[in-house]
Amino acid sequence: MPFYPLVISMEKETSDSVCLECGDRIVYGRSDRKFCCDACKNRFHNRRSGNSRHYRQRIHSALERNYFILDSLRRTSLRNIPMSDMVNMGFSREYFTSYSGNASEETYMCYDIRYCVVKDIVISIVKVSLEEVPPEE
Ligand SMILES: [Zn+2]
Repeated sequence: MPFYPLVISMEKETSDSVCLECGDRIVYGRSDRKFCCDACKNRFHNRRSGNSRHYRQRIHSALERNYFILDSLRRTSLRNIPMSDMVNMGFSREYFTSYSGNASEETYMCYDIRYCVVKDIVISIVKVSLEEVPPEE
């Protein structure tokens, strides 16, 4: 977790802010300055966008892994697969591309593969034609 020092503004005339990147006191410029220099400003924003990219890549990888597991399982004769077994295979149940459900049955999509979960058991895995994939809401 990055460390974000508090920006403290004591007086209006003299800037008492500290740089969000390095924590150094900002001794010149407007009192609402957040960085001591452009290099710190760039480092700060690059790290933030890097974190966001890393986060998206992680979710994308999880979805790809889920897709691979679902696609492998639907080619087998296996039915009624406990979700816990899928999780043991590396399935991330918290990632899917769409969801619809009610109290008794939950239907998830992982791209063009649909799977239904009832009482934590995956009861059907089917690849749907792309025309069946629900449009974005
Ligand atoms: Zn700085």
